[in-house]
Amino acid sequence: MDVAQRIRNLPPYLFAEIEKKIAQAREEGKDIIDLGIGDPDLPTPSFIVERLCREAQVAENHRYPSYRGLQAFREAVASWYKWRFGISFDPDKEVVALIGSKEGIAHFPWCVVDPGDIVLASDPGYPVYKIGTMLAGGVPIALPLLPHNDFIPDFSLFPESLLERVKLVFLNYPNNPTSRTASREFFQEVVELAHRFGFIIAHDLAYSEISFDGYRAPSVFEVDGAREVAIEFHSLSKMCNMTGWRIGFAVGNAKLVEALGRVKTNIDSGVFNAIQWAGVEALERVEEALRDIIPVYTERRNLVIEALRRVGFDVYYPKATFYIWVPVPQGFTSMGFAEFILERAQVVVTPGIGFGKYGEGFVRISITTPTDRLKEAMERVVRALEG
Ligand SMILES: *Cc1c(COP(=O)(O)O)cnc(C)c1O
Repeated sequence: MDVAQRIRNLPPYLFAEIEKKIAQAREEGKDIIDLGIGDPDLPTPSFIVERLCREAQVAENHRYPSYRGLQAFREAVASWYKWRFGISFDPDKEVVALIGSKEGIAHFPWCVVDPGDIVLASDPGYPVYKIGTMLAGGVPIALPLLPHNDFIPDFSLFPESLLERVKLVFLNYPNNPTSRTASREFFQEVVELAHRFGFIIAHDLAYSEISFDGYRAPSVFEVDGAREVAIEFHSLSKMCNMTGWRIGFAVGNAKLVEALGRVKTNIDSGVFNAIQWAGVEALERVEEALRDIIPVYTERRNLVIEALRRVGFDVYYPKATFYIWVPVPQGFTSMGFAEFILERAQVVVTPGIGFGKYGEGFVRISITTPTDRLKEAMERVVRALEG
């Protein structure tokens, strides 16, 4: 029996080998500290949990949710965008609820990509852009994010004849894994290119609220002309420590939002209403949640950067996200350096190659681990590199 070609075509899982080593080290009783995954260790704010508990008691919430999401949830999304970015969206036509933004990102190529269509996906990048494209029969092409360009893509690398064939471009700023941010001027340029070459922009804004030192990340919709060509994906996962809840949303061009709703209507039946009501509570009180979250990440970011600089790494203080993107020492591959750190320090970091071929030469450190453990991890890394 064979599984479908589209599954066989998926790239191999790169971390099998390193995961075997982690499992083996744990079995040997070693105290492994995992800085690999980006999944907040801090709990969901209690006011959100309490709202869920109340809403879970309401019988009306036990039935199938509406496909596009509760009216109240879509209105809360629209109000938050207005308050945060100064942009108005029609909650009936320009907002759709998602089962986490990953779900929406994975399904979006089904809405706009015909078999053989070209999709540019940030590389290094969140793997779902490429895989979602492949599952829909599209052809992903890497959009390189390179250090010499501060991890901002340079579209002039592509001949115009290729750009004319591009259907969709996936962008993500603040960026996972590089932690770089993009300016409104950059979005302006991409929106102009989208109009000129007739492509669609899917912007992943998952980290807009995880920012430091007063930095405020822009939405692509702060740019004129974006509403004709773009959709933006967002979620409560990172900004309110809600990764396990599975609730996100997309806003933007009405035709694109409608198409995504249509695909979803035929595949899933939406997010549990009680979770959507908790999402309303979260959106109304994001600032309150962030007041507790941001100082913790700031302290952690600082301690990681200081430790890395002490042993000679060329790293800078990210303005956003909970990742540090670290160039590996000469002579190492990203996988080799991750294995070295695992063996010498019992610390797990993510090899950059896992985010695409342009991620080679880097590893990603996530700071979503309790501060005392993170401190311990960095002390071990420093010792391993000094000795
Ligand atoms: C975490 C993450 C997401 C997905 O988050 P959800 O929990 O599915 O909302 C999307 N994009 C990027 C870049 C992420 O890091």
